[in-house]
Amino acid sequence: MDNKRTMNFGAGPAKLPQPVLLAAQKELLDYNGIGISVLEMSHRSSDFTKILKAAESLLRELLGIPDNYKVMFLQGGGTGQFSAVPLNLIGLKEDRCADYLVTGTWSSKAAKEAEKYGKVNIVHPKLDSYTKVPDPSSWSLNPSASYVYYCCNETVHGVEFNFVPETKGVVLVSDMSSNFLSRPVDVSKFGLIFAGAQKNVGCAGVTVVIVREDLLGKTLNECPVVLDYQVQAGNNSLYNTPPCFSIYILGLVLDWIQRCGGTAAMEKLSKEKSGMIYDLINQSNGFYVCPVDQTCRSRMNVPFRIGKKDGDEALRRNSWTGLPNLA
Ligand code: PLP
Repeated sequence: MDNKRTMNFGAGPAKLPQPVLLAAQKELLDYNGIGISVLEMSHRSSDFTKILKAAESLLRELLGIPDNYKVMFLQGGGTGQFSAVPLNLIGLKEDRCADYLVTGTWSSKAAKEAEKYGKVNIVHPKLDSYTKVPDPSSWSLNPSASYVYYCCNETVHGVEFNFVPETKGVVLVSDMSSNFLSRPVDVSKFGLIFAGAQKNVGCAGVTVVIVREDLLGKTLNECPVVLDYQVQAGNNSLYNTPPCFSIYILGLVLDWIQRCGGTAAMEKLSKEKSGMIYDLINQSNGFYVCPVDQTCRSRMNVPFRIGKKDGDEALRRNSWTGLPNLA
C-alpha cells in the first residue's frame, strides 16, 4: 500500500497513519464479523455504541480528562464551534462579554462570530502581522468576562502557544484543532477544549468537544439544538445522527497514538520533525525565511518564505492554497 502513496504535508485533512487506513480498509465491508460496514451501521446499534464508548475512553485516557468533564463528538467542524462557544458560554455571566486573543486567521474568525452574541474584547494591542503571541504583560483581561478564548495553534500563520494563558479564574476556552494530542495537556486548566479531527486525530466530519460539566446549562435561547452542549452531552453525542464513520476513524487514530506511546511520544516526534525544518530554514542563509517569532513557532505547520525578508513575491507560495502568490 505504501509504495504508491504520495507524501502529503497538508495541515488537514492530513495524512493518516498507515495502520489506521489498513484497519479501515480491512473492515470496510465487514466490521468485526457482523456482515456490515460502519458506514451502514445504525448509530443506535450496540456495535456503534461500543465504537463511541471506546473512542471516548481512549481519549479520556490519553489526555487524563477528569471525571467532571463531558466529551462530545459533534458535527459542524471548528467553524461550528466558533458559534457554539459563545452560544453556550457567553451567557455564563450577565454582562455577556468574552475576551479573545487574536493571533491568526482562526482566532480572528472565532472572535468575529462571537460578536454576534455579545461583547468581544480583544485583550491585547492590535497586531500588524500574525507572527507572535503578544506578551501577556500587554493583555488587559476583563475579570467580568464569561470566558477567555485563544487558538492554541494557528494553522495558517504557524503561531503556537507554548504556555497556557493565566486567566485569574475566568473560564479558559481553546481551539486545539491543529495541535490536539500533540503533547500532554492539563485539561483541568480549561473550561472547554475543542478540536476538529481532520488535522491531528482523524478525518473530516467530527469535532471533539471537552467541556467542564458545571458550565453547561447557560445556553442562549437562540442556540440551535445541535450546537447545545447540554443537549448533546446529555444524549452522549447521539441527540441526532453523529458522524459515525469519522468517529470510528478517530478511534483507530487514538488507538494508534496510544500504541506509539501517547501524547508524550507525539510531543517528542513533533519537536524532532519540525526542528529539522526550522534548522534547515535557519541554516539557509536567508534563502528560506520563517516570519514567526522564535518563541512561538508551531511544531505542527511551518510557514516559510523564499527570499530575504521581503524577497521575491512571485516565488512565494501561499501556505494555505499552495499556489504562487501571483497577481
Ligand atoms: N480552527 C483551526 C485551528 C483550524 O485550522 C481550522 C481549519 O482549518 C478551523 C478552526 C476551522 O475548521 P473547520 O474547517 O473544520 O470548520
